[in-house]
Amino acid sequence: MTAVFSQRFDCEVLVVGAGPAGSGLAAHLAGLGHDVIVLDKGPGPRQKACGEFINPDAVRLLEKLGVLPDLEKCHPKSLRGMRIHTARGETMSGDFPGIATKVITTGAAGAPFRFQTGGISLSRPVLDGTLARHAARQGAEVRYSARVTDLLMENGKVSGVVAAEGGMNRPIRSRLVVGADGRHSIVARRLDLRRPHRRLHRTGYIRRYSGVPADGEYGEVFLSGDSYCILNPTGQGDWTVGIVLPSNQISPQGKNPEESFQERLRQFPGAFERVRDAAFRSTVQGCGPMAFDTSRQVHAGLLLVGDAAGFYDPLTGEGIHIALKGAEIAAAVADEALRSNDLSSRYLSRYETLRRDHLLPKRRFCALLQALIRSPFLVDSLVRHLNRAPALRETFMGVIGDTLSPAKLLDPSLLLGQPV
Ligand SMILES: Cc1cc2nc3c(=O)[nH]c(=O)nc-3n(C[C@H](O)[C@H](O)[C@H](O)COP(=O)(O)OP(=O)(O)OC[C@H]3O[C@@H](n4cnc5c(N)ncnc54)[C@H](O)[C@@H]3O)c2cc1C
Repeated sequence: MTAVFSQRFDCEVLVVGAGPAGSGLAAHLAGLGHDVIVLDKGPGPRQKACGEFINPDAVRLLEKLGVLPDLEKCHPKSLRGMRIHTARGETMSGDFPGIATKVITTGAAGAPFRFQTGGISLSRPVLDGTLARHAARQGAEVRYSARVTDLLMENGKVSGVVAAEGGMNRPIRSRLVVGADGRHSIVARRLDLRRPHRRLHRTGYIRRYSGVPADGEYGEVFLSGDSYCILNPTGQGDWTVGIVLPSNQISPQGKNPEESFQERLRQFPGAFERVRDAAFRSTVQGCGPMAFDTSRQVHAGLLLVGDAAGFYDPLTGEGIHIALKGAEIAAAVADEALRSNDLSSRYLSRYETLRRDHLLPKRRFCALLQALIRSPFLVDSLVRHLNRAPALRETFMGVIGDTLSPAKLLDPSLLLGQPV
């Protein structure tokens, strides 16, 4: 942008973290002509504690960002929907609405490609790496092995970061800092914005398997009281398995994490049977307590995006969607703020409002679902009702996949509609 800024600042926007939130936001802002640096502490894109399910609206956001053709070349696994298994044996398979095979022509080469609308699963190194390369193509400078250790402050405003890079600690000054540094965000912690979640205290574990006999088209959720297990097919017999348990049920087992994982998996007999003879493709990654909030998502000179701004629960698999959607909203507000030369928390608070307006309806839907899964009677009734009411089931799946607003579920004709 203007020479005035380049004399005083090393860049206009300094993004901490090259996950979906950081790279997504960097791609948007660099594409709008801003001078963006992204720093990530990892040596490169890597495996994360994640079920690797990308929901239908996140796929749409990736397409809008222009990165879907690159991801398509990496052969993501298309997912039609989700299958829910209750502890007492009820099962419901729901397809995401509007599934179709599309042939799309985009990009400079104009080569047509096909993909199935719906969800996809893709390994995180592939997703994160492709997004970071896309941000770089848009003009952002993406640097790995660059750990942010502190924030620079000037008159109460965030004015840059201190980064450990190449064995040196050095200050990097910027007009705007974006904390997209995930659940352990140093940016949020330095400003004392992180808060424990009031209700949800769960721990999640992830392990990857290969050689599973069935190569499914559905993500599968096995419920068991307050706990659940998600099996997500990632293609060619590979599955990612996630187990989520109340943190107070995690007793020290005196075993290695792999043995403990297998033992916990037995709590979900249907899931255990599915991967019983499969080979392990990864060690166990754990994280807990998973849910937390932030008291604010802006400060003068700063925005928090993605997990750095808070995390709820992976049951409905929308963390990547929230990261990408948050990046889109943040980029629009940041662009206006940079152009108006107003990086005050008052100006940036528009991001908080838009983000809350976007998240709140789905968050309420998820809270209701969380309450339902605690009651075997209620969850069985819900699954039976969804099986009998295809229109309601389709809307339910649209809400899960973030392509339909939860308000659609309140449509009286749906709720009272004749079961088939
Ligand atoms: C058990 C579990 C299962 C999940 N399954 C799913 C799922 O199936 N689908 C889904 O959509 N979501 C899932 N999620 C959530 C999803 O993984 C996250 O919401 C998503 O990764 C958020 O993206 P992000 O860019 O905000 O953060 P991240 O992907 O965590 O990226 C943050 C980046 O910041 C970097 N960083 C951190 N600290 C620093 C620092 N000090 N300096 C520089 N760089 C730093 C990290 O290296 C990292 O690359 C799951 C979460 C859990 C816990």
